Amino acid sequence: MRRQIVAANWKLNGSSELVQSLVPRVREMAASLDNAVEVVIMPPSLYVGAVKGLLQGSQVAVGAQNVARWQAGAYTGEVSADMAADLGCTFALVGHSERRELFGETDTMVAEKVSRALESGLDVMLCVGETLRQREFGEAKAVVCRQVERALAGVDPGRGEKVVVAYEPVWAIGTGKTATAEDAQAMHQAIREKLSQMGFAANEMSLLYGGSVKPDNAGALFAEPDIDGGLIGGASLQAEDFIAICQAV
Ligand code: 13P
Repeated sequence: MRRQIVAANWKLNGSSELVQSLVPRVREMAASLDNAVEVVIMPPSLYVGAVKGLLQGSQVAVGAQNVARWQAGAYTGEVSADMAADLGCTFALVGHSERRELFGETDTMVAEKVSRALESGLDVMLCVGETLRQREFGEAKAVVCRQVERALAGVDPGRGEKVVVAYEPVWAIGTGKTATAEDAQAMHQAIREKLSQMGFAANEMSLLYGGSVKPDNAGALFAEPDIDGGLIGGASLQAEDFIAICQAV
């Protein structure tokens, strides 16, 4: 059975106060969800320990928003996959478009991070997505499939259950513009075909959509056959909105 997952990517937002107010509410509301969705919170790494502490004994998982290409050493400012696993994270987000665009992460770096995360026992949430320009030029599927191929080239296809792919069209992130359910479905189908060509048991892998997912559009997106959940930015900072999205899976 495919995993259904909704993950909160807090990005560079939050404070001790937000952690203390938001996490217990998400925990409480997540306990009364009547579906099988896996709920994940990805706070800034400095808050991972506090978030994990507030989630002890609950089903809500914690993830890192990024991991280093190295496990240890003289890499000031970095956080390793081993450290994320040590603190109780079970997921690592890798290759978010903000990392690619603002921090110069290449496909090669993304592939290295995927390997580190898997070595540390984390599940990888690999982000892929095209820019508006690439979509306008009709290159969206080619771009996204190339990102998938390059990021996962070194992964043993037998480990597909440890990999989740999140399709996040760059033009839909934080803009209030969402891909139509049909366009998102078409891309998810293309990603699944690519994974299958690479030897993965693609039908058992979970594919998430991200980009301005809100309570009022989540239902239509998640109703598509190849969309198994969502990766949520802005709306994940609001407990009611986030849980409404989790309930829509
Ligand atoms: P928004 O939901 O704010 O558009 O962000 C999406 C995203 O980038 C999640 O990783």
